[in-house]
Amino acid sequence: MSQAVCILGATGSIGQSTLKILQRHPEAYSVFAVTAQSRIEELVEICRQYRPKVAVVPAEKVDELSKRLQQHHLANIEILQDEAGLIAVAEHADVDIVMAAIVGAAGLLPTLAAVKAGKRVLLANKEALVMSGDIMMQAARDHGALLLPVDSEHNAIFQCLPQHYFEAERHGKPKLGVSQILLTASGGPFLNHSMQQLEEVTPAQACKHPNWSMGQKISVDSATLMNKGLELIEACHLFAVQEQFVTVVVHPQSIIHSMVQYVDGSTLAQMGNPDMGTPIAHALAWPERISTHVAPLDLFMHSQLNFQEPDMLRFPALKLARQAMQSGGIAPTILNAANEIAVAAFLNQQIRFTQIPQVVEHVLNQMDNQPAHDLDAILQADQMARGVSQQYVVSKGS
Ligand code: NAD
Ligand code: MG
Repeated sequence: MSQAVCILGATGSIGQSTLKILQRHPEAYSVFAVTAQSRIEELVEICRQYRPKVAVVPAEKVDELSKRLQQHHLANIEILQDEAGLIAVAEHADVDIVMAAIVGAAGLLPTLAAVKAGKRVLLANKEALVMSGDIMMQAARDHGALLLPVDSEHNAIFQCLPQHYFEAERHGKPKLGVSQILLTASGGPFLNHSMQQLEEVTPAQACKHPNWSMGQKISVDSATLMNKGLELIEACHLFAVQEQFVTVVVHPQSIIHSMVQYVDGSTLAQMGNPDMGTPIAHALAWPERISTHVAPLDLFMHSQLNFQEPDMLRFPALKLARQAMQSGGIAPTILNAANEIAVAAFLNQQIRFTQIPQVVEHVLNQMDNQPAHDLDAILQADQMARGVSQQYVVSKGS
């Protein structure tokens, strides 16, 4: 029987890659719901091609979408709006699989709704987990949700971990002989830039990743290495390990997507061409495998694989993220919120590239850390951190 998929953030880079995989397997999956924030024409095209039952957009886009769907004789597609609409499709009884591919904190409540409804949740929206780590993982256990990593590194780690890892006790040291997680990083477009060169980089340069084609926010995060910082926190939660068990390894070719080391001296790596089609297909079908458009790896084309340590002086964001994970409480939520504001300000040319980690550090220093015992504490910390970040951006802006 075919499984019904809800794609939160269908018009984005991950959303489109997901649709591309679903298109190959029409007998196995149907598209139940798609959501978009702005690109209505792309959403209409998706509706034409995949015939979902529901589409979700912001209230101010409902009329435009409704008109365009009528023109295409697709008036039978129900339109829901705003966050309430996102939550409704994420927890809908007819949905089997939710692809959480909204970018940033906006994805938190819909992703959590899918988890609480016990869905198979394909997690691309790492910010949601960074913000709410313990709460989201506990909700997955309480409600029997299957939280599968789509982020290529975490998907690779998942593939390299022992089969029964997740049934093993979930606290403290890694279990079942696992000694270390090696989280690989491409190093982004500015891996070999000097401090001085970093001062001058533009948003267009930051968004041009050497190996991956992605949305703007994650592209900037990859360039500052904040993406790796967020992924470090993501790994700690997904795999129930403390941050000292996660080592970041810069590997510029992006062929090895991450590794797991064992106490007997083994290191297992997952390799493949850098295309999100592979982790998306893996998370969709796990424990089975389905075909994708991704070409098999030709090792003769990649005669060199290089590895180096990350440079914390030029890329302080990674250090800030590690410290936030060590501190716990609302620190990761503050880190994420400040980073979202700083990245948006950089993309708007209000601040320089090198000021992004400065905003984050400032806000982490300004706000007191507190326990993140419930969702309200997290949402409040998120709002407050955004306010403090905005003030700082305005004071520093060029
Ligand atoms: P993107 O910018 O291309 O797409 C974002 C999607 O979210 C769009 O559909 C957009 O309409 C929607 N959206 C944006 N703001 C919203 C809001 N306020 N409310 C509701 N919907 C909103 O981003 P992307 O590159 O596809 O990344 C999506 C998520 O996946 C991010 O969390 C990113 O870190 C993660 N991720 C992406 C990649 C990648 O290769 N692109 C890889 C790993 C993880
Ligand atoms: Mg990644």
